[in-house]
Amino acid sequence: MRLEQADARVALVTGSTSGIGQAIARRLAMDGMRVVVHSRHSAEAGEALAAELGGTYVQADLAVEEEARGLVEAALGRYGRLDVLVNNAGISRRIPHDDLAAATPADWRHLLEVNLIAPWVLCTAALPALRRSPGGGSIVNITSHAGVRPKGASVPYAASKAALNHVTRLLAAALGPEVRVNAVAPGLVDTPMTKDWAQAHELWRERAPMRRPARPADVAELVASLIAGSYLTGEVIVLDGGLNLT
Ligand code: NAD
Repeated sequence: MRLEQADARVALVTGSTSGIGQAIARRLAMDGMRVVVHSRHSAEAGEALAAELGGTYVQADLAVEEEARGLVEAALGRYGRLDVLVNNAGISRRIPHDDLAAATPADWRHLLEVNLIAPWVLCTAALPALRRSPGGGSIVNITSHAGVRPKGASVPYAASKAALNHVTRLLAAALGPEVRVNAVAPGLVDTPMTKDWAQAHELWRERAPMRRPARPADVAELVASLIAGSYLTGEVIVLDGGLNLT
């Protein structure tokens, strides 16, 4: 059941028409927030989800700086406030780590643009509003266990997520006490991004103490609790069903 209040907190969740982002949007709406749903494509799905959640939908290509800034402006234009920013949108590219030539400078630029620079632009644009949030603003970055350990789909992907983990800590130090900044670093999550990653699914089923990949709702649960808190900041929480213990 969704609680709705005219003065409810407002959350912008990037990349929220599918996978992890959609689960986060649904969860935050259930927690009583007004949610700004966003995607690069799938406007129809975005409008439908926003209508279902009583939120609003904005389309933007986050690889384009003006569109990223426009997304925050649209959220503020619609609600006049922004309390929560979840930087979830991201791209991955699978490249064997020992095939250096296959990870081209163009791959590096695109991955860094979407996974690192876009969250930075969104944080920058959202900061004045987050600072004004009664009870404190909250940023949650969805990174990856690949940004913590030397693993992951490709070296540029892992490096983009490692950089965002560090930005999380740097911003937490710089923006407190008005704004808390944390990251969730999932291992394998069952989403459209990973549907063809058979080996990874097998690894999680066989080796992870939890014997399965995460569901998007598992990530959403943790994100919601980070947002609901009032003290935790600067943490990168690995959510991998315990695979890192093995
Ligand atoms: P997904 O492909 O379902 O969702 C990614 C979202 O990002 C989509 O909504 C897409 O539209 C959006 N996006 C991509 N490029 C964009 C751009 N240029 N502009 C605007 N939006 C753009 O994937 P997911 O698995 O739900 O991934 C969500 C986040 O979680 C990503 O940051 C991903 O790196 C991270 N992650 C996923 C896994 C996993 O196993 N699925 C593991 C660790 C981290």
